[in-house]
Amino acid sequence: MDADALISCGAMTLQFVAEYWRSIGKRPVVANIQPGYLRQLLPLEAPEQAESFTSIIKDLESTIMPGVTHWHSPNFYAYFPTANSYPAICADILSGGIACIGFSWIASPACTELEAIVMDWLAKAMGLPEFFLSSGNGGGIIQGTASEATLVALLAARSRIFKERKVEDPTLTLGRLLDQLVVYCSDQAHSSVDKAALIVGCRLRKIASDADCIMRGEQVQAAIAEDRAEGLIPFFIIATLGTTPTCAFDDLVSVGRVCEKEHLWMHIDAAYAGNAFICPEYRHLLNGIEYAESFDFNPHKWMLVNFDCSAMYLKDRTHFVDAFNVDPLYLKHAFQSSAPDYRHWQIPLGRRFRSLKLWFVFRAMGLDGLRAYIRKHIELAKYFISLIKPDDRFEIVFPAAEQLGLVCFRLKDSPNELNERLLKALNEDKRIYLVPSMVKQKYILRLAICSWLTEEKHVRFAWDIISEVTAKLLSK
Ligand code: PLP
Repeated sequence: MDADALISCGAMTLQFVAEYWRSIGKRPVVANIQPGYLRQLLPLEAPEQAESFTSIIKDLESTIMPGVTHWHSPNFYAYFPTANSYPAICADILSGGIACIGFSWIASPACTELEAIVMDWLAKAMGLPEFFLSSGNGGGIIQGTASEATLVALLAARSRIFKERKVEDPTLTLGRLLDQLVVYCSDQAHSSVDKAALIVGCRLRKIASDADCIMRGEQVQAAIAEDRAEGLIPFFIIATLGTTPTCAFDDLVSVGRVCEKEHLWMHIDAAYAGNAFICPEYRHLLNGIEYAESFDFNPHKWMLVNFDCSAMYLKDRTHFVDAFNVDPLYLKHAFQSSAPDYRHWQIPLGRRFRSLKLWFVFRAMGLDGLRAYIRKHIELAKYFISLIKPDDRFEIVFPAAEQLGLVCFRLKDSPNELNERLLKALNEDKRIYLVPSMVKQKYILRLAICSWLTEEKHVRFAWDIISEVTAKLLSK
């Protein structure tokens, strides 16, 4: 342990990051290398002798940076954003420096207590229902990803239905029950739902969304009726707020009413769009959340908190504690009944001090600063719409889905194959980066405002490139 080395090497590292941020707009947004490039640049074995930190940092530029896709380049418009900010990075350094593992209250009380406090702050800032606050039966926990949150919710729901059914039939085994359990989601839900159902071993039924990509209660009700008639047991549904392909919002009110009537656990995946609820003008999209048992979104996408930070809220934490409670002597402590032990709310045992990131970002930015950040991205998406809309070569698709910082478009009245060629040409051009999606048999291009460095001039630049590459493609 060498505190002096930490100070000098830390300064070099921060200097590198600062220079990276300053130069990021000038770097090609997508790496221009082939698979296996790094094997040719690095030795085959780990070094026997220690090397100087200066030489390690020096090698970053020549070996690692050529293989980095610059997610924070102002020219990056792919997927959804991933967050980045100096307070979150500083908090991560502290988390690494303190390096405690806060799986239970006693394992590091501040780790647990700060998490409960900042998750309450966040819930209040977003206007979430009071039952998600730690003062009642619920509470918030920071999971690593939205995928983990979906899996954890699904496992807790499975545990709840098993307990209930076992009361009726004490001979019931989990294996027998699993054969009958059905999970539902929209045909627009994220692939992490398929993965969670695969891991848990439940059958997954996808509900056809409407023309605007919205899942509605009527279709859910019909599917449940069919499945019950087959002797199956519907028990869990994932509703999405802000789907990945088009940022559509499932109809929580009608789906939630069905869940209440049919005794289904509704989990809400708002991975990207959930961040917008910090702005009151988007809260109407949360109508129906009162029917949810669990809710999750990713501050690590759009709230300036670096990966990983997925904010999960539970209506009744006892379902989770019941599902995941293993209690060997070495983990027991005297305060178990008076403080939460997050080890019972998650899959791993160990956990980092992630709440520091939220705390630092809240304090360094203020809620006002965070709202301004979200609103700016939404304005930039609107600016892109104002550029593309008057151009007859294009059409904006799925506009009925509430658009936040995402715009979906394609060449007007054109075959999928032509749009595929357009995206390929844009990404081969390498000045901007977008990803496509296939929605309702339509190949579409998605432009998501991602970087905190993106300004109007960059959006204008992106539009000029799209226009230029399209002109070239159509003239062939
Ligand atoms: N759910 C939705 C709607 C998403 O858009 C995404 C990723 O973009 C995810 C889940 C997965 O997020 P994570 O990487 O946190 O698991």
